[in-house]
Order: sequence, then C-alpha cells, then structure tokens
Amino acid sequence: MPANPILGIDLGGTKIAAVLLKKNGGVIWRKKIATAASDGFEAVLRQLTEIAAEARTIAPFTRIGLALPGPLDLKKGVVLDAPNLSWRDQPVTAPLAKLTGVPVFIENDANAAAWGELKHGAGRGFSNFIYITVGTGIGAGIITNRMIVHGRDGGAGELGHVNVKEDGPPCNCGRSGCLEALASGTAIARIMQERLQEGAPSLALKLAGGNIAAVTAETVGKAATAGDLLAQEIISTAMRHLGIALANLVQILNPELIIIGGGLAKLEKLLFDPVQAAMKRNCYPSFSKSLRIIPPELGEWAGAAGAAAIALDST
Ligand SMILES: [Zn+2]
Repeated sequence: MPANPILGIDLGGTKIAAVLLKKNGGVIWRKKIATAASDGFEAVLRQLTEIAAEARTIAPFTRIGLALPGPLDLKKGVVLDAPNLSWRDQPVTAPLAKLTGVPVFIENDANAAAWGELKHGAGRGFSNFIYITVGTGIGAGIITNRMIVHGRDGGAGELGHVNVKEDGPPCNCGRSGCLEALASGTAIARIMQERLQEGAPSLALKLAGGNIAAVTAETVGKAATAGDLLAQEIISTAMRHLGIALANLVQILNPELIIIGGGLAKLEKLLFDPVQAAMKRNCYPSFSKSLRIIPPELGEWAGAAGAAAIALDST
C-alpha cells in the first residue's frame, strides 16, 4: 500500500473535483473546475493532466483514482457510455496513465462516492447502505457487506434508468419513463420550462431573467425555497418518483442507511421530506422503520475522495 498521498479526481459532465488524500483520509489539497465537456475528449484529458501537474507541486502522489460517469469496463479502463460527456467506448485509463506517469484506477462515480462515504464519511460503521447521487443525472452506489456491488460488467446501480412511469417522458438513454427523465436536475428544469411555456406563473421565470430557456434546476430550487408553489409542486412530484425507486431498492436490498448527495441534495427538506414519505409508503414498514435518509458527510468531494480511497485500496 503506497505511503504517499493519492490523487482522486471526480470527472462529471459539469465539473471536475480533485483531492489529494492521505492514507488516513485527510485531505491536503482540493480543486474544482468546470468540465470542458463540449470541447471533446482531448480537451478533458488535458484538463485532467493539468490538475495532476498542479497536484504534483503540492505533494508527490503515486496513483490516481478517477471517478467517471456511466457504465465502465473496469478491466480495460474504458468509459462505455457517458451521454453527459458525449463519450462512447472511450479509453481513459491508458492515455491518462501515459500522460501522468502513474497508474490510474477507475470507478463509476456513484460507486466511488459510496466508497468515500464508507471509508471517510457518513457510511463509516455501516455494512449495507446505498449512496444516491441526484444532479444532472441519477446514479446509485450500492454497498453490501462493505463491498461495492458491481454486477457482471461493473454497471450495477444504474438507478437513473429504472422505469418508474410507463409511457413517461423520453430519456436520453433512448427509452422513456426512466427515473432520470422524471427526477434529475435536467428533468426538473425541463418540466418547469414546459409549465412556463403553457403560461403557468412562477418566480423561477423572474430568477432566470425572464428567459424560459435559461431556467435550470437551481433556479427552480431557489424559487421553491422562496415559497413558489409551482416550483415546490414540481420538486415534490419529482422526489416522489425518486422515493418510489428507492422503495424498490430498499425492498430488494434491505439497507441500513441511504445517503443522498449530488447537486439537488442542497434542497435539503424540499428533497428529503417527499423522498422519505414516498419511500415509506412503498416498502415494508419493517424495512423502512429505522432506515435513515441523510446527506453525505463529504458533500461534493465524496466522489473524488472515494476514487482516491479505491486507488489506495487496489492491489
Ligand atoms: Zn433512461
């Protein structure tokens, strides 16, 4: 096991978060930048290389742990499908290792965040829990007996694409009625835009400078927090769908704890209350009775810290 710190990077469609993590979980450096996703793979690879170069000026690191969206081929180091980055069958491990000169270990972003919370966050002391990330997309990292559930190809936990509404809205995976098309930040923004187009009044329009196309999930969240009824209704309906999906997971996995992170977790009660209520209504009372739903302790750094911890634990 390496004694030097590990560089953990969480590469998302919107932002790249990086931490230098000591073996004991201490963070000695962190950085966050916007992802140049629309500029293509080479541009993003350059960003990762620059982050590594900057981290090296802080402390010598011996490995990189990289959290990535979408299903991955862990053995080959390839991103199979990441619509938010417009990557398909994209090799990542080999080019990044070549450019930085250190071994690179990859993991799905929700799995990495779950591992980060298990090792250094809210999941410490738990053996069976689920980490859900709700932001641009929706994903889950499932911890069972203190191990990540990977499935055959490492694709387990693709919660965003479970069907929660037959004939529901189209999803960017090509199907319809997926949880992600009903409860992600992208979905919440889209639903508000549709309602505004129909002429429904909402503070979200004013917060977006009167431009319907500029309405984001953040705008909707701010409007809801300020008491806007339409924004509150859209978020609560979205979170009811998330609660139903969670109830199904709870019914299958019987976890001790659910951690909900990602950009939308900042909505706090507006998110957690309807999720908890829908989850409780839709699974065994004995399963949900003492089941807590809480925010992550590591916040937006869970994926980066978890990726570093995975690289550290890898042999
Ligand atoms: Zn889908």
